Amino acid sequence: MLTTLQRIVEVVNQAPDLDTALEAIVQRVRAALGSDVCSVYLADHDAREFVLMATEGLRLEPNQRVSLEFGEGLISLAAQREEPLNIANAAEHPNFKLVESVGEEAYSAMLVAPIIHQRKVLGVLAVQQKQARAFSGEEEAFVVTLAAQLAAVIAHAEAKGLVSGHYSPWLRNLSGLAGAPGVAIGEAFIGRPAAKLSSVVPRRTEYPWREIHKFRKAVLQTRMELRDLAKQVAAYVAEDTLAIFDVYQGMLDAASLGDAVEKKIKDGWMAQTAVKMVVEDFVAQFEDLDDSYLQERAVDVRDLGQRILSHLQERNGQAQSFPNACILVAEEVTASMLAAIPRDNLQGLISLHGSANSHAAIMARSMGIPAVFGLTDVPLTYLSEKHLIVDGYSGDVFINPPTQLLEEYEVLRREELELAEKVAEDRDQPAETEDGMQVSLQVNAGLNVDHGHERWGHYEGIGLYRTEIPFMMRERFPTEQEQHELYRQTLQTHRHVPVVMRTLDIGGDKPLSYFPIKEENPFLGWRGIRMTLDHPEIFLVQVRAMLRANIGLDNLQILLPMVTTLDEVDEASRLINQAYFEVRNELAQEDREQKIQRPKVGVMVEVPALLYQLEAVGRKVDFFSVGTNDLTQYLLAVDRNNSRVAGLYDTYNPALLHALQHVATRCAELQKPVSVCGEMAGDPGGALLLVAMGYRTLSMSTHNLDKIRWILRHVDSKVLQVLLTQALSCSHPDQVRRLVTMKLEALGLGGFVRAGK
Ligand code: PEP
Ligand code: MG
Repeated sequence: MLTTLQRIVEVVNQAPDLDTALEAIVQRVRAALGSDVCSVYLADHDAREFVLMATEGLRLEPNQRVSLEFGEGLISLAAQREEPLNIANAAEHPNFKLVESVGEEAYSAMLVAPIIHQRKVLGVLAVQQKQARAFSGEEEAFVVTLAAQLAAVIAHAEAKGLVSGHYSPWLRNLSGLAGAPGVAIGEAFIGRPAAKLSSVVPRRTEYPWREIHKFRKAVLQTRMELRDLAKQVAAYVAEDTLAIFDVYQGMLDAASLGDAVEKKIKDGWMAQTAVKMVVEDFVAQFEDLDDSYLQERAVDVRDLGQRILSHLQERNGQAQSFPNACILVAEEVTASMLAAIPRDNLQGLISLHGSANSHAAIMARSMGIPAVFGLTDVPLTYLSEKHLIVDGYSGDVFINPPTQLLEEYEVLRREELELAEKVAEDRDQPAETEDGMQVSLQVNAGLNVDHGHERWGHYEGIGLYRTEIPFMMRERFPTEQEQHELYRQTLQTHRHVPVVMRTLDIGGDKPLSYFPIKEENPFLGWRGIRMTLDHPEIFLVQVRAMLRANIGLDNLQILLPMVTTLDEVDEASRLINQAYFEVRNELAQEDREQKIQRPKVGVMVEVPALLYQLEAVGRKVDFFSVGTNDLTQYLLAVDRNNSRVAGLYDTYNPALLHALQHVATRCAELQKPVSVCGEMAGDPGGALLLVAMGYRTLSMSTHNLDKIRWILRHVDSKVLQVLLTQALSCSHPDQVRRLVTMKLEALGLGGFVRAGK
């Protein structure tokens, strides 16, 4: 049964459109069960009826529309109850409705299973038999399993049909997850990751010599690229590190990769295909070796292969031109994709995977780009060259919208601009409530592509500098000198305020291409401080670079991510001390006048275990910073990137509010400074609640600064207290959301929670 089931799903998955998929389902299910009839009815929610879309066994003429109103027949009953019905003699059931036109009278037994996708009934799968008999438990389980598997396939195929236009002649819209607020109108631009061996589709050629020529040229370009890279780093990396470039050059030699690739090309494969085949073969061989050093070389071979591939692909002349008003659409939006599109062209983005809490979404918000995430049922190519409206408040995407809708959205966009202008009026004022309570507004940097700090207005620090981004943009770990230059520039630019630099927080959804970590549960795995403490050489180099960058400026503070235990704090402090003494001694040896200062060290409160160790950890560090993004993820056990459970990820969850109140109260008792640097601090409602809880430092992306400042300057702290008391007594996140939305509406700022004034 299992293979039959897998085969059906496979065939349906490969079907080019919904009709073919449904035909395949009914034919194969009927054959597999040896039943007389198999049919699929799909729900038309607008017409409130179930439409017979495909059948094997019933009489359905090509242009005949057969439907049952919602509530009619056993079809509706199974859908309404959301469970299968197994009836030996359907005609005797009080809910039975005979559809004579299709010859249904001949059948007695009926098995109906609802097809449900993301809690929504899409339709039903019905099997019928002449002979009156109950279907066996096994048959029932088969149909139920198949219906569950087909739900995603049908949703996918429906979305495809919807987008390609043959399914619905009316307005086409898709619903995703609101990722970054705002409204964008423009043309889809499909973003693809840089050269990837895995995405090369094997192709043959009739002109092997041309392909060999292309390959040799790509190898030459790769050699030059490696030589340049080696030169760039020669000044500051150790000899043995440099040796890796010689190893790479050696691999490119004919005796290594070169000959093998050319042989494949002579066998009739295109250059890209040959590179993929040979490199993947080499990688597999290295990975199979027992020696861990040699296993690691698999990474180098893959890297080298992708470098050659990228040159081969560039040669194919895929120079990119962007639409003037560009909506970036990608399977998974990455930082480099965002950076590649000129800011003026980039209006909005759609990421088929991921959710509003992913780092790509944070980046979109920090750039002020409306975004929708989690349109998992739509194939990427179907959005290509479409005109789109992206509603970053509701998560809706409209495809080739009619003029009237476009005009409505143009109005909303204008209103957004007016609101932005209004809140910008207070830009140079401090954040202070009407009754004089001061809040320090700081900036989250690192994910920020926009460096124009002159336009930030009044800010009192960089509350979170995510150092991992420069690491992600490279093809190897940045050297101490490279890091020093980067950090120095940031510390210098913001020399009048504190700059909180967080040590490397990779893992989770922030992978490094050159340091792959394969884990079942990356967010619960080797992430942040866990990884860097296991690699003190990486941690020490980073801290040394920070300390050296801080010389003479003294505005650095160091923040440790993902801390779970006291031991981690001890170990990290020991390494920071070691780095401090190393740099101090080096300065003394160089007879330099400059002195280095020991920076303040803080810990992120983002793993729930920290909630109950504030006192013990507080004795060892200077400050705390609450990362609400991860605290929400870990407290509620919801993967922040998984669109399937995104509905559960909610910073207004009363459990989270109580946890945050606990941290604020405890830190006040311990007299430990505490700030919030998660996204909640930049959310209008979130900021109001946090301030009411007692947080006096909020760090957020620059895009949110103006509105949070404006909101705080237009409320009275006593009003906030009332709001908080009500919020803490709510039992559901939606109740909290309604409360804060009402408050914001009263302040004339409803437009920040939904489109419009
Ligand atoms: C957080 O978890 O809230 C946070 C600020 O860190 P990041 O989003 O980078 O994980
Ligand atoms: Mg975090």
